[in-house]
Amino acid sequence: PPALVWFREDFRLADNAALTDAAQSGAPLLCLVILDDASLPGAAARWWLDGAIRALDTQLQSRGGRLHVFRGPSREVLPRIVRQTGARSVFWNRRYDPNGRETDAAIKTELKEAGITVRSHAGALLHEPWTVRTRSGTPFQVFTAFWRSARDLGDPRPPLPEPPALTFADLPPACAHAGLTPDDYALRPAKPDWAQGLRDEWEPGEETAHDLLGTFLTENLATYAASRDFPARNTSSRLSPFLRFGHITPGQIWHATAEKAGTASQTDTAKFLAELGWREFAWSLLFTHDDLATRNLRPAFDAMPWRNDPKALKAWQQGRTGYPLVDAGMRQLWHTGWMHNRVRMVVASFLVKHLLIDWREGERWFADTLVDHDPASNATNWQWNAGTGVDAAPFFRVMNPILQSRKFDPDGSYIRRWVPELAPLPDSAIHAPWEAGEDTLRHAGVIPGETCPAPIVDHREARERALAAWRSLKP
Ligand code: FAD
Repeated sequence: PPALVWFREDFRLADNAALTDAAQSGAPLLCLVILDDASLPGAAARWWLDGAIRALDTQLQSRGGRLHVFRGPSREVLPRIVRQTGARSVFWNRRYDPNGRETDAAIKTELKEAGITVRSHAGALLHEPWTVRTRSGTPFQVFTAFWRSARDLGDPRPPLPEPPALTFADLPPACAHAGLTPDDYALRPAKPDWAQGLRDEWEPGEETAHDLLGTFLTENLATYAASRDFPARNTSSRLSPFLRFGHITPGQIWHATAEKAGTASQTDTAKFLAELGWREFAWSLLFTHDDLATRNLRPAFDAMPWRNDPKALKAWQQGRTGYPLVDAGMRQLWHTGWMHNRVRMVVASFLVKHLLIDWREGERWFADTLVDHDPASNATNWQWNAGTGVDAAPFFRVMNPILQSRKFDPDGSYIRRWVPELAPLPDSAIHAPWEAGEDTLRHAGVIPGETCPAPIVDHREARERALAAWRSLKP
C-alpha cells in the first residue's frame, strides 16, 4: 500500500522531514495537496500557492511522480483518500496556526483510530514553538530574552538532503477523477488579472529560493546591518514568501549563513539571524495567543477611540495619502505583493497614528495583498507597530513619515520608482512636495491635489490627535 505525503506549507524536496521519513518507509509515495477553503490564504498568497503547487509538481514529475491536488474540507478529503488508496501511513510537516493545529489533531485522531500510522515532523521553524520557554515554563513576552533562550538551545539540526530515490504509486481510478488539473485550481485572479506585477517580480519554487539565498549571502550579508533599512537598495534577502510556503527552511538558511560567517562581520550575521528570530518569536506568540490577529494584547487599547474613516482607509490602501514614502510603499505592495520592512513600519504607523484607524484594518489589508503573509508575523508586527502588543514600540512614539523618507530614501529613488508623478521633483522637495516653493513645483510640473495627491492629514495635527486619543486610555 502507498504512503501519503500531505504537502501544506512545505513545497520543497530537500530538508523535508516528512518526505524523507515517508521515502525511508519503503512504501511507494502518493504526494498530495488539499485546497481547503478553511485554510486558503489571501488573494496575493493564493497566487503564490498556485505557483508553489505547479513548481513542486514539475519537480516530482522529473523524478517520475506527480503532485495530486484535491479540493474540499481536509477532514473529509484526507480520510477519503486514505480509504480509496488503501494507504496505511500518512506523513506531514507540522503547521502551527490555530486552525491548522486543530484540523491536524482531529485528522490524526480519526486516522489512528482506523489503524493508520500518522507521522508529523518539524521543519517550518528553527525550534518548536513550545520549546523556547522561561525558567518557569511560560512563554517569553520580550524578544531579546526569547532569542537569547532560543540560541541557548544550540544550532537547529543540520538540513536533510533531498531523499536520494523516490518511488511513486499511481492514484487508483476511484480517486483520480476527484483530482484537479491546474486549470481547476482557481487560485489565480481571473477578471481582472491583477497579477502581472507579481509575475514580473517572483518565481515561486525551491530552486529560486536557494538562488536568492546564495546571492544574498555572497552580495548582501556583509552589509546587511547598515543597508537593510534603505528600501531602494533592495539588499534584504527577499526570502519571506519562500519561507512562508516552505520552499526553503529557516534551518537551511541558518546553516548556510553560519558557513558564510567568516566572510561577514559578526554584527551583520547576528542581525540577519535575529530577523529569523523575530519570525520564531511571532510564531511562539501566535502559539500562545490564538486571537493574535484580532485582539489587542494590551487590553487598555480596547477603549481606543479609533476613527471610522473609509475614505482615508481607501487612500491609504491605494497609495494616495499624499505622503510620498507611504504612497510608494502601498503601491509597491499592490504591484508586487511585497513591501520593504522599513516602509512596512512607516505605513503601519501612518495608518494607526496619523489616520487613527484600527490596526486590524491594516492587518486585514496586508493579509490579502502580501505574498509573504503569515498569520504570526503579520499580527505580531501590526501589534508591535500599533503599540498594542507585547514588547511593542510605545504608542507615543509617532514616526514622522517625512523624516523617515529623508533618512532612508535620501535621493528619493524608491519614491520615484513607485510614485512616478513625483519623479521630476528635485531630491530636496520629493519627500514633502507641498512644502516646496512655487517655482520648484512649477518647474517640475507638479501640483499637489492635481497631478499628485495632496496630504490627507497634517503631520503635526495628526500627531496631536493620536496622542490625545492615547492619553484618554486608562493604563
Ligand atoms: P530579511 O531582512 O532578509 O529577513 C530574513 C527573514 O527574516 C525574512 O524573510 C522573514 O522571514 C524574517 N523576518 C524579517 N523581519 C521580520 C519581522 N519583523 N517579523 C517576522 N519575521 C521577520 N513578514 C512576513 O514574513 N509575513 C508577514 O505577513 C509580515 N507582515 C508584516 C507586517 C508589518 C506591519 C511589518 C512592519 C512587518 C511585517 N513582516 C512580515 C516582517 C518583515 O517586514 C518581512 O519579513 C520582511 O520585510 C521580508 O523581507 P526579507 O525576506 O527581505 O527580510
